[in-house]
Amino acid sequence: MPPVSLHDDLAAELAAREAGGLRRSRRLLESPQRARVTVDGREYLAFCSNDYLGLAADPRLSAAANEGIARYGVGGGASHLILGHSTAHHELEEALARFVRQPRALLFSTGYMANMGVVSALTGHGDAIFADRLNHASLNDAALVSRAAFKRYAHNDLGALERLLKTTPARRRLVVTDAVFSMDGDIAPVAALLELCERHDAYLFIDDAHGFGVLGEAGRGTLAYFNMASDRFIYMATLGKAAGVAGAFVAGDETLIETLIQNARTYIYTTATPPLLAHALLTSLQIILAEEWRRERLRALIVQLREGLAAAPWMLMSSDTPIQPLLVGGNDEALALSASLAAAGLLVPAIRPPTVPQGTARLRISLSADHEAADVARLVEALLAAA
Ligand SMILES: *Cc1c(COP(=O)(O)O)cnc(C)c1O
Repeated sequence: MPPVSLHDDLAAELAAREAGGLRRSRRLLESPQRARVTVDGREYLAFCSNDYLGLAADPRLSAAANEGIARYGVGGGASHLILGHSTAHHELEEALARFVRQPRALLFSTGYMANMGVVSALTGHGDAIFADRLNHASLNDAALVSRAAFKRYAHNDLGALERLLKTTPARRRLVVTDAVFSMDGDIAPVAALLELCERHDAYLFIDDAHGFGVLGEAGRGTLAYFNMASDRFIYMATLGKAAGVAGAFVAGDETLIETLIQNARTYIYTTATPPLLAHALLTSLQIILAEEWRRERLRALIVQLREGLAAAPWMLMSSDTPIQPLLVGGNDEALALSASLAAAGLLVPAIRPPTVPQGTARLRISLSADHEAADVARLVEALLAAA
């Protein structure tokens, strides 16, 4: 094929996107991330964030971040293996390991990087990764980078997974799943997955981005929610959602963590995150542990929303978590519903293919402990009026 002008080629792609109604744009958030936000100059009540516990703008975290600046300055300055691993990172790793009741934990800069680093550090050519079809994009990208065989099974389809596990010739076998699925809000059948892993010599990677801080006793996450422990688990959670700051960690035994320190490229070849963030996260962990009312508030709001929308023409997908997707179906209908809510001062994102399967466009309502009963009542009323 003859060469093309890169610029013209890109412009044509963007134009096609625009014509198909698929061009995405960013709203400008002018306030902190809270239930009430200022966006593009207007005030809204928002149901868009993953700040489930309402901590992103908590003044105690700001104070802890300032204390972290006073103690450590602003920049990380070097990678962890050179001289970027500060006391703040180390204390946070120890606190996180205790919190999720694992021997050790390792901090990453983001959840995306943790997934890329861990999956490709643990598997390679000759190994196999088995992944739920609705897993987060970072897990799929990680599997592709690893060079292991990559097998996807239909969402939560244990029979399909078992058929794949039975026939694999792979040396190392890693089953990879979101604990709480980010666009559906349902919880993976962890006990059944673990049982399959035990039967077929596989290990189970759990991405608890949406369960950490929210589910289980004291918010210890999805494994605590199921009251499960096993040395077959490789546990990962993120710190930019319920924990309200940024980053991610992986927890497990000494061998796992030491392997990651030696092999995880997204851990090794990047500058350590500012220690002030790790310092702020120590306070965040204390709040997660101490303030059970935030999880109680969430549970009450979930019940209120589900009861309120029982008579709506659209179905709330089955979910016990703060992710409450309202299944609309068509792309245009979902966009129109989201736009009519925005006109009424309510922000709820419409999620369309390819993020979700064709024909399942939805409004992804996400609840936060920063919401009050009156906020959910307003959303229910607006949705019923739009119907
Ligand atoms: C958000 C998310 C990630 C990525 O975490 P970041 O810290 O935002 O990079 C990974 N996995 C799942 C399931 C997520 O929802």
